[in-house]
This record gives sequence, structure tokens and C-alpha cells, in this order.
Amino acid sequence: MTKYKLEYIWLDGYTPVPNLRSKTQIKEFAEFPTLEQLPYWGFDGSSTLQAEGRSSDCVLKPVALFPDPARTNGALVMCEVMMPDGVTPHVSNKRATILDDEDAWFGFEQEYFFYKDGRPLGFPEHGYPAPQGPYYTGVGFKNVGDIARQIVEEHLDLCLAAGINHEGINAEVAKGQWEFQIFGKGSRTAADQIWIARYLLMRLTEKYGIDIEWHCKPLGDTDWNGSGMHCNFSTRYMREVGGREYFESLMAQFERNLMDHIAVYGPDNDKRLTGKHETAPWNKFSYGVADRGASIRVPHSFVNNGFRGYLEDRRPNSQGDPYQIASQVLKTISEVPVEAMKKVAA
Ligand code: ADP
Ligand code: MN
Ligand code: MN
Ligand code: MN
Repeated sequence: MTKYKLEYIWLDGYTPVPNLRSKTQIKEFAEFPTLEQLPYWGFDGSSTLQAEGRSSDCVLKPVALFPDPARTNGALVMCEVMMPDGVTPHVSNKRATILDDEDAWFGFEQEYFFYKDGRPLGFPEHGYPAPQGPYYTGVGFKNVGDIARQIVEEHLDLCLAAGINHEGINAEVAKGQWEFQIFGKGSRTAADQIWIARYLLMRLTEKYGIDIEWHCKPLGDTDWNGSGMHCNFSTRYMREVGGREYFESLMAQFERNLMDHIAVYGPDNDKRLTGKHETAPWNKFSYGVADRGASIRVPHSFVNNGFRGYLEDRRPNSQGDPYQIASQVLKTISEVPVEAMKKVAA
């Protein structure tokens, strides 16, 4: 038997953005455990804004499992928070009730800032560094500093070793700003991986004395870019059938559901989606081929393949909850009839 270090990870009850929380328990297993072998656990909900009435115990239900490459015999255990009965989802537990479909694929582009001493990494104590321009995908000390690349490389290795579908990294437009991409099949699969990747990044940077600033517009109304989490999505129907007519119906439904999308695309998005810095105004829906100033960007490949493939919703922001983002995208898609599919099924 081996003693495993199980890091139970969950989202707390803070609004509008939950925080990641975690704690460790040691359990013996003959080999690396399966999800089914992991016991439910509990925590003090009164310390995480999750206490209900007089009883402060909440239940942790393991829902996704990854090896923890930073620890010998370690595991990262993504959990849902349940009521004391163990079966009723806590009100803060959004994951339990989202729409999911393993044939719906999601690629999230998570942007964020490294922060040190209350300002973006690489910013001088007073004033600003040279204006934006050379930082995006930049190389060299004056563009990316001396430590950021080491961190993003370590984070990449941690994610890959944990079995996360990490797809790439790039330095972003603002100094101290970076991005990683995660791909997953199904809302929960993709979103669990974003949350674990966020967790790994925050834990990794502790030892550097650096924090991750997830806010979508940390530098306010300035000429510095904000942070998004573009959501690239495709369903089986979009990939295999598609067509211009279906695409236009889909976009019309996205337009009708504008406010439902904005409601879950992350807080303070009006400060980021201003129409400047490669964004579309938050309160006006638009789409365009290869248009980075649109709400939804239609890749060239999509048009060239007969309106088949994936689309990029550029509105979700860096603090958005990927569970709710993916679910809302699926909800809007589900409201558009797919005539051809119905014929096939009949
Ligand atoms: P950008 O040009 O917007 O910066 P990125 O290369 O950063 O694009 O991200 C593209 C994202 O699209 C990746 O996360 C990738 O996984 C995702 N993606 C690619 N193909 C599909 C698909 N068929 N369905 C859903 N997402 C996809
Ligand atoms: Mn990108
Ligand atoms: Mn980007
Ligand atoms: Mn993008």
C-alpha cells in the first residue's frame, strides 16, 4: 500500500467570482486511485461563504482526478460542493446543473497578468513601461523580463504531466500579460481542466512571490489591454453538417440571447468590452470573418469549409466561470433547430 496525498479542490461561495480552495488528505491505496475510490470529504463552509443556516459542514464530492506532478504520490481532486446530505448541490455549485455534451468541443484561451508588488510584473514602481506593441509573442528581456517565461514553461510542464489538454502559450499584448489555451470535449471536461490549470498556476507562483491577476481590466481605462478567455466552440453538427443557413440562424440566436451570455461571461466585462483593444462593445452583438473586433470571430477555415468547423466567442473574460460559459453556449445552440439532423434521425 502507498500513502497518496490527495488535494481536494473546490470553488468557494464568494461572488461574483468564486475563489479556488483546497486541502490535503492522506489515504492509502494499492495503486494510483480511481475517481470512484476517492471518498467524499467535508469542510467548514462558514469560512468560505458556504455555510447554510446553523450547520456549517459542507460535503466535497470528487468529480475529476488528475495526477499532481509537483508532489510524490500526489493527486489533484476537483470537487463539487454538496449540502450535508451529500446529494443536493450547494447553491454555489454551478457545475452540477450545467448543460454538457461530449460532442461539443471547447477551446478556452485563458489570459492573465502576473502581478508583483501591486503592479504587473515588469512595470516600474512609478509610471509605465514602453507602450504596447513589442510584448505580444515577444522575446528578449526588455519584452518579457527574466522570470515570466520560466513560470509559464513550468506551468506548461505541470499541466501536461497532470494530463491536462494544454494546447499552447503566448506572451500577450500588455507587459506582464500571458495566455494559455486548453481544449476539452464536453463542458465539464474542458472547464474542469481550466480550473485545475488556474489552480496549478496560482500554486506555482507562490514560491516566486508573484500573484495571478485574473481581473479582466486590471489597469482600468488606459491604453493597456484587458484579459479575456475566448471560448472556441464546435458541436458535431457544426463540424459535420453546418452550412450558411444554419450558421446565420445560430448567430441570430446568439444575438437574441446577448444578455444571457454577458451575465455569465465574467464580471466587469463592460470595462473590457469597450470596442477598443480588439473587442466589440459588450451590449451589441456582432460577428465577422477573421474579425477580432467582433463578438464572434468566424475563422477563414470555417467559411472555406462550407460554414463548418468552430467559432470563437471573444466576449468571455479572464475571470469567467468556464462551466457557465460553456453551458450558456450550449443552451443557445440547443435553441436553434437542426432540420437536417432531424431528417437523419427520422
Ligand atoms: P487565437 O488566434 O484566437 O489567439 P488560439 O490559437 O489562441 O487562437 O486558440 C484557438 C483555440 O481554438 C484553441 O484553444 C483550440 O483548442 C480551439 N479549437 C480548435 N479547433 C476547435 C474545434 N473544432 N472546436 C472547439 N475549439 C477548437
Ligand atoms: Mn489566443
Ligand atoms: Mn489572446
Ligand atoms: Mn482568441
